[in-house]
Amino acid sequence: MGKKRLLKRYFAALFFCFALFLMDNQTEAKQNITVVIDPGHGGSGVDDEAELGAIYHNKYEKEMTLEIAKAMKEELEQYSNLTVVLTREEDKRLSLEERAQIAAQAGGDILISLHLNASLGHEMYGAEIWTSAFGEYYATGRGLGETFLKELTQLGLADRSIKTKLSREGNDYYGIIRHGVSFGIPTIIVEHGHMDSGDWEYMDSQEKLRELGKRDANAVAQYYGLKKNVYKAKVEPTVIVETPIEPVLPDTTGPDKVELTLLDYDRTTGIAHLELLAVEEESKLMYYAISIDSGKEWGELTLWPEGEGTVSIEMNLGKDFDKEVVAKVYNNYEGNTESNQLKVSAYLEEEVKEEEKAAEPDSEDIIFPVEEEEPVEMMEESLPFEEPSVFEEYPIVKENPIEEKKTIETKAEIPQESTSREELYLLLGAVTAGILVTSILIVVLLWSRTITKRKKRERQRRIRMGMDTFEYKMGRRT
Ligand SMILES: [Zn+2]
Repeated sequence: MGKKRLLKRYFAALFFCFALFLMDNQTEAKQNITVVIDPGHGGSGVDDEAELGAIYHNKYEKEMTLEIAKAMKEELEQYSNLTVVLTREEDKRLSLEERAQIAAQAGGDILISLHLNASLGHEMYGAEIWTSAFGEYYATGRGLGETFLKELTQLGLADRSIKTKLSREGNDYYGIIRHGVSFGIPTIIVEHGHMDSGDWEYMDSQEKLRELGKRDANAVAQYYGLKKNVYKAKVEPTVIVETPIEPVLPDTTGPDKVELTLLDYDRTTGIAHLELLAVEEESKLMYYAISIDSGKEWGELTLWPEGEGTVSIEMNLGKDFDKEVVAKVYNNYEGNTESNQLKVSAYLEEEVKEEEKAAEPDSEDIIFPVEEEEPVEMMEESLPFEEPSVFEEYPIVKENPIEEKKTIETKAEIPQESTSREELYLLLGAVTAGILVTSILIVVLLWSRTITKRKKRERQRRIRMGMDTFEYKMGRRT
């Protein structure tokens, strides 16, 4: 009895699988494909600002997506086995459901919603594809997404990958995807690039928007293996993605591990070599940024090299840098993790100790090397030349020259701390100042003995002073 029942069930399951296989084949192999292109946003924006989409450089996303869509349609229509439908051909308000309805009425096989991106901090860049997290809708979206990203990255845009996003209820987060799927149409959102970052160069003219549209058309043609003027008996996707059984969940956490190490730091040139290690199990590493003030301000996002676990960084920290360097690594879901706070001064102390051991016991000479009346302006002039353009944003240029002289003052000036702390700092400052003054005296005495060093310094100073007076004169003339 039990065995018979089991056998029955087994055959039923087998038949079900076979039926599914047949159905699947029927939906995949078609003679004619209907592609529905949805230019994102549209409308006056009076009642709902979202109708306008993003606005940057005095350009509206709703107008740009329409331009891309029209070019995409024009290009796609040159291919055989294809019907192309636009959800809107003018600046017109349409709900997300209405867009999906239009796609369904047209018998759409795929619905492609075109958008341009922007980020809150205006620091992100790159192209990305959003797809449904579920079953065959995920599989088709992912396959399509791959051809889209291939085209867009060939153009030069960064690859922010194919992603899913879920609402709190566990449905697809984006309305157009949710509605498209509810009508049985695999739907993707193509975010071509960011209007508020360097990506703007890929969309700043009508020709460039049309180029984006052409790339989108190539992507669809590639996905279905379509040819211009060659009619095929059967159209099938060329990119086959296995249908996932479970929903494909987005990565909601930052990289699992981020570690920053200092390889070396030359305090005379200010050049440091760092190594940044990051581990990301769920998604992929996307960007990294460096802060040279313990994470208050961040440099621009640098692309994480594809497939790498570590990144070597060379940067100019400025001379005698004594603050903390921190790194922040992002995955492609914009989740980020900060590294350890790297103390460069600890490295310097190590170095100084080694130098002390090596040299004669003139320890003061090393600890206070620039105490003599080195003109501050001269150092300011020489610094900008050593600043690498990549880290222009960092305010180190102005901070550094004064640093040697200011150590005492800044320590005493630390703001917004509790008053007892302030007093402590003041006291500390006063004591340090006292020590410093006596040290300077000792140093001066010691230095008078090291004549060769002194001579060198004099010579350099004379040269600099010469330049200084020359520039001063020039300044007065103009
Ligand atoms: Zn948009």
